[in-house]
Amino acid sequence: MAQRVRELRAAGRFVLSLLLGEPDFPVPLPLQEAAIAAIREGHAPYPPVAGLLPLREAIAEYYHRTYGLPYKASQVVVSNGSKQAIFNALLTLIEPGDEVILPAPYWVSYLPLIQLAEGRPVIVKTTTETNYKLTPETLSAALSQRSRALILCTPSNPTGTAYSLEELHALAEVLQEYPKVWIISDEIYELIRYEGRHVSPAQLPELYDRTLITNGFSKAFAMPGWRLGYLIAPQPIAEAAIKVQGQTTAGANIIAQKAALAGFKQDLSALLSPMVQAFKERRDYIFTYLKENLPEVRPYLPEGAFYFFLDVEPFLGKKAPTGRLIENADGLTEYLLERGVAVVSGSGFGSDKHIRISYAVALSDIQAGLPLLVEAFRALG
Ligand code: PMP
Repeated sequence: MAQRVRELRAAGRFVLSLLLGEPDFPVPLPLQEAAIAAIREGHAPYPPVAGLLPLREAIAEYYHRTYGLPYKASQVVVSNGSKQAIFNALLTLIEPGDEVILPAPYWVSYLPLIQLAEGRPVIVKTTTETNYKLTPETLSAALSQRSRALILCTPSNPTGTAYSLEELHALAEVLQEYPKVWIISDEIYELIRYEGRHVSPAQLPELYDRTLITNGFSKAFAMPGWRLGYLIAPQPIAEAAIKVQGQTTAGANIIAQKAALAGFKQDLSALLSPMVQAFKERRDYIFTYLKENLPEVRPYLPEGAFYFFLDVEPFLGKKAPTGRLIENADGLTEYLLERGVAVVSGSGFGSDKHIRISYAVALSDIQAGLPLLVEAFRALG
């Protein structure tokens, strides 16, 4: 879609993009300075495979301070982005044919990553009624003796909704009966929260030993292009993940690691609050606008991340003014692009009845884009 937008703009067409999966903010200044200083040191040795020890210590300390989780630096594996951390986790845990439970909608890469690790994805549909969250009933129905892992993403891409402590407790109760199932908890949006506080499944004593956390610097620290993420796992899993990474990419970019380390030395809430506040303002604007002008898409208030996942089913089966039938989210996305708004089809996230809009774009773009979106929906007959 991003490529299509570029092409259309190059051809002189006006297109508002609500596609972005990365913050529209610069890397925070202290991190920029640390990266420049790292370059000026002049040495660029191979970093240790698992990451620089001070960074691993800082990550362990951060999770301890913030969530009370007693991790050691040796349990932290720094990677080239959290996508690699997720893949390392899957390669480490999964034997061919093992089942991996994946609540849908899901972040687009989980499915191919499970398949590359030769696991068998077991997709569990969630609904708007539960704010797209897994329930004990749906989880229980999906688990089997072949289940090996469950992927949770909280706050979620694409929905922005997040699990509460009570909801995680209810899931943990079901998981008690399946002790061989690991939880891979993708917490990359953990610091982009508007109400309440992030809860990691690892904070539940009954899940602590079976939870692997993946996180990274692409969202809260706005440095996706510097490729840095990490896995925190029980010791033997962390050691296996280091072996996997040692033979694929080895250690992550040392400049990015030094920048990230500088980030942990800051007061994180002060450092990140201008960006999080801006996201919140945009979120509130979109929610109010859609509730008033396009309630059919069932807008809800996401607790974190920077996306809305909109239910477009009421508009499927209608016709565009050109006469073309809009059959699914892909067709709708195509139609919206022709009308000047770029959004992401839900099909890659496991639903062909939804679209995702991102608010990692300026409020002025959102204010210009939403009326176009509403007009386009209203023009369907
Ligand atoms: N998990 C989720 C839910 C994401 O949205 C993303 C980025 N879009 C990632 C993982 C991967 O991020 P990175 O590899 O840049 O750390």
